[in-house]
Amino acid sequence: MHEIRFFNTLGRRLEPFRPLEEGLVRMYTCGPTVYDHAHIGNLRAFVFEDLLRRSLRFLGYRVVQVMNLTDVDDKTIRGALERGVSLDEYTRTYIDSFFADLDALHVERAEHYPRATEHIPDMIDMIATLVDRGYAYQRDGSVFFRIAADEDYGRLSGIDLEQVKSSARVASDEYDKDDVRDFALWKAKKDGEPSWDSPWGPGRPGWHIECSAMSRRYLGPSFDIHCGGVDNIFPHHENEIAQSESANGVPFVHTWLHAEHLIVDGQKMSKSLGNQYTLKQLLERGLEPRAIRYVYLATHYRQKLNFTFSAVEAAAGALRRIDEMRFRLASAVEGEAPSPAVAAAIARLEDDFTRNLADDLNAAGALGAVFVFVKEINKAIEGGAIGAGDRKRIEDALARVDQPLGVLDAGAWQEGDGDGGGLDDAEIERLLAERQAARARRDFARADAIRDRLQGAGIVVEDTPQGPRWRRS
Ligand code: AMP
Ligand code: ZN
Repeated sequence: MHEIRFFNTLGRRLEPFRPLEEGLVRMYTCGPTVYDHAHIGNLRAFVFEDLLRRSLRFLGYRVVQVMNLTDVDDKTIRGALERGVSLDEYTRTYIDSFFADLDALHVERAEHYPRATEHIPDMIDMIATLVDRGYAYQRDGSVFFRIAADEDYGRLSGIDLEQVKSSARVASDEYDKDDVRDFALWKAKKDGEPSWDSPWGPGRPGWHIECSAMSRRYLGPSFDIHCGGVDNIFPHHENEIAQSESANGVPFVHTWLHAEHLIVDGQKMSKSLGNQYTLKQLLERGLEPRAIRYVYLATHYRQKLNFTFSAVEAAAGALRRIDEMRFRLASAVEGEAPSPAVAAAIARLEDDFTRNLADDLNAAGALGAVFVFVKEINKAIEGGAIGAGDRKRIEDALARVDQPLGVLDAGAWQEGDGDGGGLDDAEIERLLAERQAARARRDFARADAIRDRLQGAGIVVEDTPQGPRWRRS
């Protein structure tokens, strides 16, 4: 087995990964703020997390993944007010949209999708502990975390707190905090806003406390992996560490993994540049969802992903090469004994693929191993070196590597993609030519095997003085 290594943002180095509990990985992944449709940048983070969970399962672990749905914050509240509907009604549209996007991209479901509005008591409970322990204080119905009370604040991001001090001053007039760097755990109710009762009066939770409270609820106070986009490192994840460790008194998360951003045509995505796409917009343009997923996988998660339409086209072409190999394989005729060349190709695939994936999720390298394999199998098909049982062994090997990738299962991505066992005319002609060649070199076993294969597909072959003729029975 290959040792798993991840690049831990906490400490900024590659290190061997070992879960706290043998055989089980508990991970928390910051989810969407459901105030709008997700854009393809958000989806990069979610596909990366899907690759992570699928890879861990492939490498032999059970996984418990939690992804929160942020359904109360400034943006959701503003949206609901503007539309004149309840927060719940407003966010439901975008929660449904989010899951539709995940399905379109074959993202596996996490074990838990807790909604912030359904866990307010957990958050209040944690805030109360922080107040009791002297890490938080109340001002006019709001509660703030006191950064000065937390000695190792800044450990994750390596942030310069003096700098934060000056930049935060500008934005701090809203609330009367002791220190501009302190952040809100509980926000006192404002007119027209939804609110919940608390020991500090009516209000709503801050964003950061949501993840600390919900991760503890579903994963306990200490767990293995926490993920998000790089923009989450500061302040969100820094604040989560401060809250959780101050309230729970134990280390919060062992390994922090962060996905770099997606850019479009080399530029930052933004509404004003008109390059901020939702998945739905790309699908309306006719882009294949599996090719989009492939584009996400093909750039390492710690590198910026430059999204271009030509990259999606290239990905679609790469996937078609695999489809074509499988199509040819389906009608290849098996020889009598298993082929050593095929066995070697499968062994090489499994080793290279697994090694790449275990090495900080090098999916691009893993895909490379798949294409080496496709080339080798194509060669075996052309050389008539597909042996007894090889067709199934090759298909099984592809199915295994597709468990983490989730891009190869042609049947699952394409509705009604033909009658699997059927042969088209070109394929029949090719098989007949192969049969003639086998006869010419007096390989009658092979020639008969091809005839059987054609018969099995309902093709009747008649040998005439002008050569073989065929018809569908
Ligand atoms: P939000 O819905 O804004 O809370 O963001 C959801 C996730 O998308 C977070 O993990 C962000 O880090 C991530 N994210 C936002 N913008 C981008 C981007 N351009 N590229 C990659 N990830 C992003
Ligand atoms: Zn979070």
